[in-house]
Amino acid sequence: MSRKKFLVIDDSKLIHKMFNVMLRQYEVVHAFDGREGLQLLGQHSDVDAILLDINMPNMNGLEFLATVKADSGLAELPVVIISTEGKEEDTARAMAAGASAYIKKPFDHKQLLDVIAGL
Ligand SMILES: [Mg+2]
Repeated sequence: MSRKKFLVIDDSKLIHKMFNVMLRQYEVVHAFDGREGLQLLGQHSDVDAILLDINMPNMNGLEFLATVKADSGLAELPVVIISTEGKEEDTARAMAAGASAYIKKPFDHKQLLDVIAGL
């Protein structure tokens, strides 16, 4: 079986570094806004799940999520929201728009692996 592949979309370089460490047994593809995320999805059709920030330039997480859910070829792909404290309303909107799960910052390695295992 091939390694699971995750697309991380977040405008924070620190978050990408953190996911590189926490997901080191998996393949990780990195995008820094929703627009780049869509581009990379076109190149990596074998992505198993998306880890998605909400607040980003160019195309934010809610816009990205709406685009993915409107595309029949992508709609089934699990999306995990990387939730920021104080932004619970955005997280709730993303869950209502079809996100599979969310993980609240700050989180540790075990919490992340538990969320991924539950997809
Ligand atoms: Mg952000």
